[in-house]
Amino acid sequence: MAKASRYDVVVVGSGFGGSISALRLAQAGKSVLVLERGKRYRPGDFPRDVTRTDEVLWRHATRRKAQGLYDVRFLSGIGTVTASGVGGGSLIYANVHVRPDANVFEDPRWPRTYRRDSLEPYFDKVARELRLNPVPPSMPLRKRDLFQRAARGMGRETFDPPVAVAFSEPPGPGRRVCQLCAECEFGCQHGAKNTMDLTYRRGRRRWGRWSWPVRSSPTWSRCGMGTASTARTWCRESGTPWRARGWCWPRGRWARWRYCCAAGTSRGRCLG
Ligand SMILES: Cc1cc2nc3c(=O)[nH]c(=O)nc-3n(C[C@H](O)[C@H](O)[C@H](O)COP(=O)(O)OP(=O)(O)OC[C@H]3O[C@@H](n4cnc5c(N)ncnc54)[C@H](O)[C@@H]3O)c2cc1C
Ligand code: SF4
Repeated sequence: MAKASRYDVVVVGSGFGGSISALRLAQAGKSVLVLERGKRYRPGDFPRDVTRTDEVLWRHATRRKAQGLYDVRFLSGIGTVTASGVGGGSLIYANVHVRPDANVFEDPRWPRTYRRDSLEPYFDKVARELRLNPVPPSMPLRKRDLFQRAARGMGRETFDPPVAVAFSEPPGPGRRVCQLCAECEFGCQHGAKNTMDLTYRRGRRRWGRWSWPVRSSPTWSRCGMGTASTARTWCRESGTPWRARGWCWPRGRWARWRYCCAAGTSRGRCLG
């Protein structure tokens, strides 16, 4: 639980973007507060009973107050699924880390400094932190064997991508190696996935001024880089409002000075 009430930077969202930003900012000497709307899931906590929709879904059509794991949205011509919880999408992603081909960065929409070779050291850093490795070849996996056979039949090559999963030894207390249950996208009940809350969050201990988790209101009123914004935000556990350095406090709302918006694809009421 955080003690301070003022921070250099407030990071909104604790997924891949938020967790990594928070840790690196803390390492750079900034005091950081991470705000996360969803709850903390420990191995064994993930919902499995689909009839308990409030645990499964975030603010679904019939229960706008539900605070479950999956935030499912239907937009014009596209549907999105994101996670709501400490660790964000890492809780429900498929753990696969594939580095983009160099030619992806030739698209002029990428900043010129972003190139495969300039990003390589950072990909390496993430690979170390998330302890990426492929499924060991010695591990029996019928689905993979059939896939490889089919590919060979078509004259195509296959490879086992690196995944953020522990296969050989338990990655920490209360966690187990992968049980090959294929439930990665429902939340790993065994703690075998190296999710953000179990990896980057550990940095919190080394970088004491990084405080989280704190849950914030899902009802952002406005949010956007470089524009004035306000958000109703509080610590669920203590009910205390939080302030960041330079923020003011008109009637229980914050006007922020500096924040990092890492709330994924979430629109909230008007996020973005
Ligand atoms: C089922 C599934 C499988 C996937 N598999 C892979 C894969 O194998 N490999 C891969 O590379 N990618 C995969 N992805 C994609 C990957 O998960 C996303 O690209 C990634 O999570 C995006 O990271 P992010 O930090 O932008 O947002 P997120 O990880 O979505 O994090 C956003 C966080 O912000 C929080 N938040 C939102 N609004 C607020 C608010 N108002 N206040 C406070 N907190 C808020 C959310 O609760 C969430 O925790 C998968 C995605 C899904 C859904
Ligand atoms: S134990 Fe199951 S859910 Fe966890 S990483 Fe392995 S296959 Fe995925």
